[in-house]
Amino acid sequence: MNTDKLSDRLATVAKYVPNGVKLADIGSDHAYLPCFLAKNGSITFAVAGEVVEGPFQSAARNVQSEGLADIVSVRLGDGLEVIEPGEVNCITIAGMGGALIANILELGKEKLPTVERLILQPNISASTIRKWLLEHQWELVEEEILEEDGKIYEVLVAEKGEPLKPYKNIQRELGLLVGPYLLNKKDETFQKKWRMEKENWKRIYSQLEGAAPSAETELKKQELLDKIKMVEEALGNENSERS
Ligand code: SAM
Repeated sequence: MNTDKLSDRLATVAKYVPNGVKLADIGSDHAYLPCFLAKNGSITFAVAGEVVEGPFQSAARNVQSEGLADIVSVRLGDGLEVIEPGEVNCITIAGMGGALIANILELGKEKLPTVERLILQPNISASTIRKWLLEHQWELVEEEILEEDGKIYEVLVAEKGEPLKPYKNIQRELGLLVGPYLLNKKDETFQKKWRMEKENWKRIYSQLEGAAPSAETELKKQELLDKIKMVEEALGNENSERS
């Protein structure tokens, strides 16, 4: 991967960045994403934000060596603190856990009024982001799931709108867990991801059955059973012999 050729994961994020936006890529690391978009002429301004010195230096070096310093402004700082109010109208946050992404959005809420689109790629726990979006008047408008190098990634695209709209005809908890659009498509990668998650939960459940009984263990077991049931529904009520 470099500034000319993105990984499939980052290319999927890039696909949802509208032409001509003012972008902030938070946790940009090497700044491949904003550099790629700037080189393709699809953006004329971007902030590449990084909280850690090493990746910040790497982003600064790449931007400099590509001659993109007029377009991509590399800034050191935590989350959305690197952008000024009104400076950008599109934000990408990729390659982190869902809880961290939701926390960055929560802490930077005052920077969001002028932002029209969020493109978020959590490595785990996309449900935490879906919940945050729902509670903060962001409507999920598209989702993708992809596998690369043996890992499965989800990409979530949100705009301000009707947060409940994508969940209208489905069970809310299930939609938040697996993604309303992904649930609708139920492609092979989706099925693979949730079969693996289900097996993992079953393993944990068996371990808990061997643990000393306590109210906490019982609660955890019930939560796991609920999630297993939800995912079985999502996968189309596969029978337990197959699952
Ligand atoms: N976005 C790139 C990608 O998807 O390939 C890089 C992902 S890298 C695994 C995550 C980056 O996020 C790291 O460079 C880390 O330093 C940065 N990061 C983590 N928390 C951050 C925060 N609160 N604000 C800004 N950057 C953060």
